[in-house]
Amino acid sequence: MAVVGVLRPLARAPVRRLARTYATSIPSKAHHRVVIVGGGSAGVTVAAQLQRSTDLEKKDIAILDPAQTHHYQPGWTLVGSGLRDLADMHKPLSYVIPEGVKHYPLRVSTFDPANNAVKTAEGVDVSYDYLVVAPGLETNFAGISGLEQALQDPASQVSSIYSDKTVEQVWKNIKDFKKGQAIFTQPAGIIKCAGAPQKIMWMAHSQWERYGVRNNVNIAFATGAASMFAVPKYSQALEELRKERNVEGLFQHNLVKVDPKKKVATFKNLAEGTNGALVEREFGFLHVVPPQKPWDWVAKSPLADAAGWVDVNKSTTQHTKYKNVFSLGDASSLPNSKTAAAITSQTPVLIDNLLAVMKGEELKASYDGYASCPLLTGHNELMLCEFKYGGVPKETFANIFGGQETPSRLYYHLKKDFFPFAYWNFYVKGTWFGPHGFLRPDTTAN
Ligand SMILES: Cc1cc2nc3c(=O)[nH]c(=O)nc-3n(C[C@H](O)[C@H](O)[C@H](O)COP(=O)(O)OP(=O)(O)OC[C@H]3O[C@@H](n4cnc5c(N)ncnc54)[C@H](O)[C@@H]3O)c2cc1C
Repeated sequence: MAVVGVLRPLARAPVRRLARTYATSIPSKAHHRVVIVGGGSAGVTVAAQLQRSTDLEKKDIAILDPAQTHHYQPGWTLVGSGLRDLADMHKPLSYVIPEGVKHYPLRVSTFDPANNAVKTAEGVDVSYDYLVVAPGLETNFAGISGLEQALQDPASQVSSIYSDKTVEQVWKNIKDFKKGQAIFTQPAGIIKCAGAPQKIMWMAHSQWERYGVRNNVNIAFATGAASMFAVPKYSQALEELRKERNVEGLFQHNLVKVDPKKKVATFKNLAEGTNGALVEREFGFLHVVPPQKPWDWVAKSPLADAAGWVDVNKSTTQHTKYKNVFSLGDASSLPNSKTAAAITSQTPVLIDNLLAVMKGEELKASYDGYASCPLLTGHNELMLCEFKYGGVPKETFANIFGGQETPSRLYYHLKKDFFPFAYWNFYVKGTWFGPHGFLRPDTTAN
């Protein structure tokens, strides 16, 4: 299957199929009390928690999403590391749409918030009383010259955990690589799960140690960022690990081009005083995390901020201009780390504030920026990074087990075994509140 065709338009092919299948059952106009754009981790969780809410009168909720498949993306790191099967990391979207919630397999193309409506590529107009915007972000494989061609060719030794179409090749490449230069990249700018680019590196490092070939492999971490991680406490611990494990750090090096034939990666040096000089490095193994950005149709809409994200208040998740519009997850402007973990804290806040707007009450629920990055550092070890706005650690287990910058086996099994189980059984069903477990947090406490 051509990776290029799959990667660039992402869910476009399934949409056409679905449009044909459902064309007769979809009206040209529809109205729902609450319309949710996107049935990913955020959209489905909001729908499930709203559907369960005893405070919501008249449950009339619809999700618009053209995809056939719902992905548990945090599981892709496990698949790329050979720890879990890809089959465990996705289910049909219909499986996770909560009972009683209407699903339209439609691709939203335009927001018309002045008229409380969205338009879809299939020509359907859907109006709403309240709108929740959660279509995620665009993983931009085309943003790096030569990358799509390289990913199509299994012999290129280039792979990426950032798509279900390319993740299985990551594990194959790790298993096959026994000698030479391995490079793991992280792009400059905002990406989802900013720890994932190095999680896969640490797992490869651990695997090559297991095979007894580590001394024959040079590992480099080439990142557009100036440090290992955005939160100083964890960045320091990871920097120590990098030095201890003899991993070369190419900081402020942003991948711009891959030549799969010559096996050369070209980076732009972003450091001050370098004038953006290009740096070429040969590789025998290359793991790429592509740049990421807001969808164009979101960025060009009246809902977007200057950077293209859905412009919401960072505490309330309410749109800064349209008071009946909310957003969360990767598409939103919430200045936290874009993770599924963050959505567990954002959702109850969004719901409480949405219910308050419906009742004409003051918005009291507040999001503190909580996000978590379960950072695999090798087999049987994981650094459970948890933090809130401002890069301030907010660790769930620190009082019991000590600072979470120390990798532990318990956290490793949370990530590998418990979180995927909890996702399919509780998270998408609206009964999981992240660090609070099954207990719905007091959203006014932050
Ligand atoms: C490799 C990797 C590792 C990760 N690791 C972790 C981790 O360890 N921990 C963690 O917490 N998070 C992790 N994440 C991040 C996490 O998966 C995301 O933050 C989360 O999925 C965001 O949820 P979302 O609903 O905003 O977007 P998504 O889950 O991406 O869902 C967006 C939905 O919107 C739909 N959509 C797109 N366009 C349209 C349109 N035009 N109209 C209607 N619907 C549309 C899509 O089909 C999709 O269903 C990882 C992500 C990746 C890629």
